[in-house]
Amino acid sequence: MENSALPNLSILVPVYNEREVLPLAFERISQVMAATGLSYEVVFVDDGSRDGSSLYLVQLASEHANICSVQLSRNFGKEAAMSAGLHYCRGEATVILDADLQDPPELIGQMVEAWRAGADVVAMRRKNRLGETWPKRASAHVYYRVLNYLSDINIPADIGDFRLISARVVKALCALPERVRYMKGLFAWVGYPTTVIDYVRDPRAAGQTKWNYFRLLAFAWEGICAFSVRPLRWVSGVGLLSALAGLVYGAVIVLEALVMGNPVPGYPSLIAFIIFLGGTQLIATGILGEYVGKTYLESKQRPVFLVERVVRSEASSAS
Ligand code: UDP
Ligand code: MG
Repeated sequence: MENSALPNLSILVPVYNEREVLPLAFERISQVMAATGLSYEVVFVDDGSRDGSSLYLVQLASEHANICSVQLSRNFGKEAAMSAGLHYCRGEATVILDADLQDPPELIGQMVEAWRAGADVVAMRRKNRLGETWPKRASAHVYYRVLNYLSDINIPADIGDFRLISARVVKALCALPERVRYMKGLFAWVGYPTTVIDYVRDPRAAGQTKWNYFRLLAFAWEGICAFSVRPLRWVSGVGLLSALAGLVYGAVIVLEALVMGNPVPGYPSLIAFIIFLGGTQLIATGILGEYVGKTYLESKQRPVFLVERVVRSEASSAS
């Protein structure tokens, strides 16, 4: 295909059970893009939806030359869906957008401007989170700080997946071989000139969030594990400290017995120490196990996602 036929901009939208909001999303994106005058394509990745989203997307893709529908073979999660979509984005830059319109497409113009000004990554930082409960906001706040403290790269706070990335960043991300795809971290890992723009995150336009606290917690741990081995060092540190404390306490008991002639007391403290140390050891083994498990998963070299079908009209030049 001729280079000139390629779109300037790709818009990547991961979709999981978003049938309710999809028509609105399509409408909004089309309107905004028409106003910018850029040529563009929208790549919808259907992440194994079971609510008819895929049917709708296939129909959309067959009706519009600049819509591409990538259907995964099952639900692989948002990270995998984004990874999959990046392989089909052919624009000079790609904007990643949530289907639920929490990331306003109206900001694309501003993002493109920053990109034209030289940024390879235009990251969008949430100034506030409308429609999210305060525990979610508070935990997100704490999480980003912990993550940043722990990991060896700088993952900026309150920046989600809403961002523009240039073609060479897309290429770099597609080339990363790892199976555990913590995209926020990977975006930060690739580097390149980055501009940050603040925005107000809207509440969901329709439908429901796919996240619950357990999923979020697992995801949070994934991020820490994927970008840091510091927890391993911590448990070694805790082990060292408790061993030292044990030694000192042992010496104190011996001295007390020898010098002051105290009888050796201590059934309760003994039990307390055994339980404490047992717990610490189990936690340490658990953390170690997490990393071993991750290594195991990576070593299997399974693909991150499987594509069931792609619908994109062949004449697909940008509209
Ligand atoms: N999503 C996905 N696969 C999943 C879960 C979510 O592709 O397994 C998509 C979802 O359709 C939406 C985006 O990821 O476009 C963000 O999901 P959601 O709005 O549920 O998350 P929240 O905004 O509540 O964090
Ligand atoms: Mg959302």
